[in-house]
Amino acid sequence: MTKYVYSFGGGKAEGKAGMKGLLGGKGANLAEMANLGIPVPAGFTITTEVCTHFYKHGRKYPVQLEQQVKLSIAKVERIMGAKFGDPENPLLVSVRSGARSSMPGMMETVLNVGLTSKTIKGLIKKTKNERFVYDAYRRLIMMYSDVVMEKAAGIESKEGKGIRVQLEHEMQKIKNEKGYSQDTDLTADDLKELVEIFKSKVQEVLGVSFPDDPLKQLWGGIGAVFQSWNGKRAISYRRIENIPDEWGTAVNVQSMVFGNMGETSATGVAFTRNPATGENKFYGEWLVNAQGEDVVAGIRTPAPLNEATKNEQNKHMASLERAMSKTYKELDKIRINLEKHYRDMLDIEFTIQEGRLWMLQCRVGKRTGTAALNMAMDMLKQKMIVEKEAVMRLSPNQLDELLHPIVDPSAEARTVPIAKGLPAGPGGAYGQIVFTANDAVEWAKTGKKVLLVREETNPEDVEGMRAAQGILTGRGGMTSHAALVARGWGKCCIVGCSALNINVRNKILIVNGQEYREGDFLTLNGTKGYVYAGQLSMMSAAENPRFVQFMKLVDKHRTMKVRTNADTPEDARKALEFGAQGIGLFRTEHMFYGRNSEAPLFCLRKMIVSNTEEERRMALDELFPFVKRDIKATLEVMNGLPVTIRLLDPPLHEFVPQEPGKRVELASSLGISLDELEKRALALHETNPMMGHRGVRLGVTYPEITEMQARAILESTIELILEGKKIFPEIMVPVVSAVKELDHQKVLVEKVYKEVCAKYCVKSIKYMYGTMIEIPRAALTAGKIAETAEFFSYGTNDLTQMGFGFSRDDIGGFVPDYVEKKILPADPFNILDQEGIGELIDIGIKRGRKTRPNLKVGICGEHGGEPSSVDFCHRVGMDYVSCSPYRVPIARLAAAQANIRCQKIKKS
Ligand code: PEP
Ligand code: MG
Repeated sequence: MTKYVYSFGGGKAEGKAGMKGLLGGKGANLAEMANLGIPVPAGFTITTEVCTHFYKHGRKYPVQLEQQVKLSIAKVERIMGAKFGDPENPLLVSVRSGARSSMPGMMETVLNVGLTSKTIKGLIKKTKNERFVYDAYRRLIMMYSDVVMEKAAGIESKEGKGIRVQLEHEMQKIKNEKGYSQDTDLTADDLKELVEIFKSKVQEVLGVSFPDDPLKQLWGGIGAVFQSWNGKRAISYRRIENIPDEWGTAVNVQSMVFGNMGETSATGVAFTRNPATGENKFYGEWLVNAQGEDVVAGIRTPAPLNEATKNEQNKHMASLERAMSKTYKELDKIRINLEKHYRDMLDIEFTIQEGRLWMLQCRVGKRTGTAALNMAMDMLKQKMIVEKEAVMRLSPNQLDELLHPIVDPSAEARTVPIAKGLPAGPGGAYGQIVFTANDAVEWAKTGKKVLLVREETNPEDVEGMRAAQGILTGRGGMTSHAALVARGWGKCCIVGCSALNINVRNKILIVNGQEYREGDFLTLNGTKGYVYAGQLSMMSAAENPRFVQFMKLVDKHRTMKVRTNADTPEDARKALEFGAQGIGLFRTEHMFYGRNSEAPLFCLRKMIVSNTEEERRMALDELFPFVKRDIKATLEVMNGLPVTIRLLDPPLHEFVPQEPGKRVELASSLGISLDELEKRALALHETNPMMGHRGVRLGVTYPEITEMQARAILESTIELILEGKKIFPEIMVPVVSAVKELDHQKVLVEKVYKEVCAKYCVKSIKYMYGTMIEIPRAALTAGKIAETAEFFSYGTNDLTQMGFGFSRDDIGGFVPDYVEKKILPADPFNILDQEGIGELIDIGIKRGRKTRPNLKVGICGEHGGEPSSVDFCHRVGMDYVSCSPYRVPIARLAAAQANIRCQKIKKS
């Protein structure tokens, strides 16, 4: 017979902590605590399988459930020495939900179940406290009628007309009549009168009477928990947190203990260490003479648990340590035992009933990135955990938190965002909004903090983007220009924020009817994609020497290397600081954007609009020193480490100047008319440039472009080597779909190679020749491509674009819908689609290595810094991942965790 109900209490339990899937987090941990001999009010857990059954069978329970519940109640009765529904000595229970992972506040709780007109008398006799009993009864009626009789029954009340609000109104009426300010002012007689009013109100509003049968109350509560699994709030929470619908919730029925039985009773919540800082101090809040809901609801201000954690706001309040020192000591002992047992920081709930301590809940506590780091390192030092566990204790996203200033979470909790977009660049930023890159630069010069707000950005905006604290765009996806650039710099950025209505001409931004003018303040949370009006406070990610220690540990446990995508010596230096082991992608074209780009950009433009090879070669000769200077500077910074330099990739027309002034200047320098220039520019126009004349195709039609770049790379290399440096260039050809393209370019590179060797009188220069794999055909024909390529670097931005057929710059319009409708689990430009694009990668590696067993393989698409994608890269056997400088530590951690996970799987 299937076991649907698991009991706990009296120093033992049928379940244990490892059974979260079946018993839910709360049930499994209650069982574990009971097994540890920690005082837990006896109870039982109805499994998540019942929830699944309930929804599979038209909301019906398995037939054996009733009998199993009956037997379990009898067990609880024996342990607690009271009987459910007994008029003399009644047992009361709470009914709570408990899913596998916690869903705070999403599902329902009913307390004091079992109080009826019959049992009230017995409880009064037992507690000798009439007021307390009637207060418990009015709470039961309020909670039960709201949760079970209204919500779970599917009754949609109008705003402000719900039964709970109406009952609260009745209570307020009595308080007003009697001139009371607090609920606690109500006397036993008042409460007696109130419960009668409540009952008739329930009858009047809901059309049924309040159940006076304890078992009916209990089954009502159980049903409400299962119903609430499919409530609107719970469903949307699951979407956000990626919790599968199939998990279901368990139900915990537990005997009631009361924190509101007078001055020797209390209730509280605590963390075994400080969840915000990680400090090893018992940290929490408590309330004397109160029930759990009073702490959570924030009706009364709770007091600090102990003297050591008092702060400015609560220093005048009595700590539990002082007020009930014996109980506090007992609680502190439990805290230490629990931490030892779970070997982690826990979040606990407790109740003190007339001096006796009861534990109601414990679970591994949520924490900030800083706290996670500090706790992992402390627990390692205390030998509570081993190195591998310490490495697993920080999620890569929490690490991200440590690298950037963030919006103060408490300020965020008090503020409603005005809009939501895609979280493209991490951290937080606030500033005065400006609408053009020029304004951003000018305002920043005067010392103002600005946010650049654009419909979308393009290479001409780069200076403004650099000057701004953060970037906000109305269009674009996670690999749009703004997102790529911002992430590269570790700059806060939100893209694809479709609620923005931007009027650049009048410098006005309208969001949901509200106007924001140039100079108004906005705040961005680039980690979540939230936009706020005004200036929210920031928290600086404090320099932490432990971060360095932790990262050392991380490196010890990873096998895959981590490189960076960097195009300037500054970025390269930054990435080295973050631990990069080489450059996996140097995008040559980036030297034509931003600071100091005027002169080389002008030469490039001349080359682009050249009409003959001769004209082009002349422009290339002018361009050559700039290209060489840039490549050489970065190669020098990376002394001793490999650098993959990609040949020019983007469609040329992207660089044709749009401003009339620039066009005139260019025409005159070429000695042609403006008309002629316009004609040439028009000829370069492409309908679909992403699949047009770009990448290797440029080198095929204009071999002189490839030659110039090969010369710049090889000359820089040999000059630095002759200075005594160790330089390892890797020449990478982009957008290749067939091996013949690669062969064609190789001839050009080898010709230049011979010339350079001769010029510098050397026999050889060490370099590698390889390709990006970013077109599905290249992945499929990787076996052939590897005959020429010595390395592969997966360009998963384009591979995703071409694998899905989704234009990477236009996904803002439909991918969010795909995710919302669960057609896609996530934006595939952000999180690698392992099933499809991953399969192409895997095939490519296997076929490539069949031809060339020592083929070096890496990834340089944006996924190279995304943790779940890094895990995939490790599993398919890549040698390295490459990502923007700020993501290097994240990728290092993700790579170490991937390795630890794989080792664990192999062992088991
Ligand atoms: C890619 O396509 O993944 C890539 C790294 O190149 P880019 O983003 O420059 O096209
Ligand atoms: Mg690409």
